[in-house]
Amino acid sequence: MLDALNEPLIFPNEAFASMQGMGMTSQRTRNRMVQRLQAEYHIEDLAVLNAMRVTPRHVFLDEAMASRAYEDTALPIGYAQTISQPWVVAKMTQWLLKTGEVTKVLEIGTGSGYQTAILSLLVKQVYSVERIEPLLLRAQAVLKRLELNNIQFELNDGHWGWRQKAPFNGIISAASPAKVPEELFEQLVEGGRLVMPVGEAQQLLFGYVKTSTGVIEECLGEVLFVPMKQGIER
Ligand code: SAH
Repeated sequence: MLDALNEPLIFPNEAFASMQGMGMTSQRTRNRMVQRLQAEYHIEDLAVLNAMRVTPRHVFLDEAMASRAYEDTALPIGYAQTISQPWVVAKMTQWLLKTGEVTKVLEIGTGSGYQTAILSLLVKQVYSVERIEPLLLRAQAVLKRLELNNIQFELNDGHWGWRQKAPFNGIISAASPAKVPEELFEQLVEGGRLVMPVGEAQQLLFGYVKTSTGVIEECLGEVLFVPMKQGIER
């Protein structure tokens, strides 16, 4: 079996290297998370696994929650929202980047900023939209501390995508609408990929590829995300 841990551990910059943590937030704990992503969740993309191995997930959580950062659970980040589970981040990112052609990504639901950081390491430019201002400000501050400079943020309702920055060749959403907003398909290039949960009480994760003749849909399994809500909150 391939093993991401055989790869040399190379941090993207000094800031990442300086936030490695200790004990429950140490590199050892992150390595174990990566091992589980491979062995239990069948994540195979080495670039994704490596990004998750070097990114200090605990800095995206409150101190009280930091020791649980590498567990396989969703954890509260305030404002009734949660940080996505590690395997969900891995699975969505792997699917989005499968063809190697996705370089300009729109993310809906910045939340803690963890998924944003992983994307930032793997693609050229990330555009991230969040509807809750305090969450957005906090995520921006953490991502700045990590010296990630290829991210633009917007406080907005992601139902509308980000028209001024469109088209994107990838879109990822961490919030679940009853059905995919048409607008998102419109802001995708031909060949572009969209991955997001769909549904209310019961949700499924879907991957969509936009083609010249329509949209190809692939179901990636059952998930549980927070709902995609209307409007913004300050
Ligand atoms: N990837 C994030 C997920 C956070 S939860 C993380 O791992 O931390 C999903 C986020 O989507 C929440 O922060 C929520 O406020 C946001 N959200 C919900 N509806 C939205 C909408 N219409 N537009 C933008 N963000 C939205």
